[in-house]
Amino acid sequence: MKKHLLLLAAILLPSFILAQKDYSNPQISAKDIYDHLKYLASEKLEGRYTGSEGEKLAYEYMVKQFKSYGLKPAFKDGYLQSFPFTDRVEMTKDNSASLDINGKTVKLELKADYIPAPFSGSADVKLPLVFAGYGISAPKLNYDDYTGIDVKGKIVVVLRGNPEYDKKDSRFEMFSSLRQKASVAKEKGAAGIIFANGFYPANTQDKLLEFVYDQSPSIKNFPAVQVKRIFIDELFKAEGLSLADVQQKISKEMKPGSFLLHNSSAQINTGVKEINGTGHNVAAILEGNDPVLKNEYIVFGAHYDHLGWGQVGSLYRGSEKLIHPGADDNASGTVGVLEIAEKLASLKNLKRSVIFVAFSGEELGILGSTYFTNNPPVPLDKITAMLNMDMIGRLNTDNALNVIGAATAIEFKSILNRRNSYHFALSLTDDGMGGSDHQAFTNKKIPVLFFFTAMHQDYHKPSDTFDKVNTAGEEKVVDYVYDVASSIDSLGNKLQFVQVQSAPARKSGGSSKVYVGTVPEFGYKGKGFKLSGVTDNSPAQKGGLKGGDIMIKFGNKEVKDIYDYMYAMNDYNPGDSVDVVVLRDGKEMTFKVKLESK
Ligand SMILES: [Zn+2]
Repeated sequence: MKKHLLLLAAILLPSFILAQKDYSNPQISAKDIYDHLKYLASEKLEGRYTGSEGEKLAYEYMVKQFKSYGLKPAFKDGYLQSFPFTDRVEMTKDNSASLDINGKTVKLELKADYIPAPFSGSADVKLPLVFAGYGISAPKLNYDDYTGIDVKGKIVVVLRGNPEYDKKDSRFEMFSSLRQKASVAKEKGAAGIIFANGFYPANTQDKLLEFVYDQSPSIKNFPAVQVKRIFIDELFKAEGLSLADVQQKISKEMKPGSFLLHNSSAQINTGVKEINGTGHNVAAILEGNDPVLKNEYIVFGAHYDHLGWGQVGSLYRGSEKLIHPGADDNASGTVGVLEIAEKLASLKNLKRSVIFVAFSGEELGILGSTYFTNNPPVPLDKITAMLNMDMIGRLNTDNALNVIGAATAIEFKSILNRRNSYHFALSLTDDGMGGSDHQAFTNKKIPVLFFFTAMHQDYHKPSDTFDKVNTAGEEKVVDYVYDVASSIDSLGNKLQFVQVQSAPARKSGGSSKVYVGTVPEFGYKGKGFKLSGVTDNSPAQKGGLKGGDIMIKFGNKEVKDIYDYMYAMNDYNPGDSVDVVVLRDGKEMTFKVKLESK
């Protein structure tokens, strides 16, 4: 009887204490996971877009949770760390355009007849026009729309797409983006660009571009607009030609058909401004219980931002605007951080100190985590490991769990296997590259583990809702992450980072076929392309480049941003040697890099 009572007390007592503390239980539980998810992925938070009201509601919720667990703020001035980002583009009042055809002025109406491109710079020009075909300059494909024409100080008129418009996977694809065409036009000396939909492929609607910021920086002082085809056709008629015929001839002969439009000119005034926003990371800290090891840190991280109304990165193709609730991506990982924070705060059983951080700006290119690692609340060399959870809510019947970064510390694989009491079908990837916030830590040579369950058809769509999350499955995943962290903490040593050479196929760098091995510094806003690192044994490393370098020239092309760099790579083939000019500690240095194939 007594024994029973004791047992009863043991069962009742903790839950009695808990009952006074909101609804939550310090154990990692499917019930808590469900409750947190239901709020974070609710319509009220409108998809938690970086810098939005929804983001604010989400971080306020997390601050409240961290406080209720008794956790201290991780930053000097609190739980929040704000960082700047480009939020959107807006048109100013200064937008106007007109065409002068055979001495007659045709005024164009904004948004009805023409529209500035989201990457357009601001400029006011009145200049002659040159038709430059598709605006493609691809010497390696023996095709250059700029041969035989002088575009200096003129506005080029170019068609969207490429001469192989009816071919899927055209070799011209990598030269066909509008921003690249504008960049090429500027490099050739043009003072502006007008895009037009051609007559082929059959395009009866002749729709104007959507004026939506696409994460690519503007091309300074360079106006880029799209004008409706009926007006472009008038320019051709004034030369005694037809746009449809000219377009067809280019494709048939696969030869550029560029020429000066003698009888026309254009006035274009563009006013496009980038509007900055502020994103917020949220982090709390728990001191370790070992007097020495508490000076080392384990970081649990997850991004809590998502796509808002789908303004960026959405895979939804419906016409009605909808909230992208991002339950799996990544309310699930955010909740993982909360649950582990609650458990550790109640047990205080780790020797090392722990940082719990929810990043924003991940969907815009790991902006928050990059800012965090560049402005860390503790010295980076004191962080023994970063454990990232991104999309851990869809454990399937195969019990499949992916872990990336498994070889970034030699101890990881044995811990991952030993602690797998949940019978996960583990799929381990050695390197710690790509996909999510752990990359920011890999870039700083910190061992990382990135946990995620599976890709699914609701990914980046309004259908990624909380009711589809397997909360019982997520409970197991979060328990596992907790167990793995406990084993990392039980080691007497700080983990040593192992730089893993990643499989070439996963290396980034746009659609070009050459491989350099540079790792970009995301969120870098200055001039040039800033490297946060280079991959081991890559052409970049062998050539002498290193993290911190700012590339300003690639071959004979000036590099003003990451896009220029990507476009410049398109001009080369594997095996080519390229002179790369970088700024290192403010000094210009040139390195010879021998390109390899992707
Ligand atoms: Zn995502």
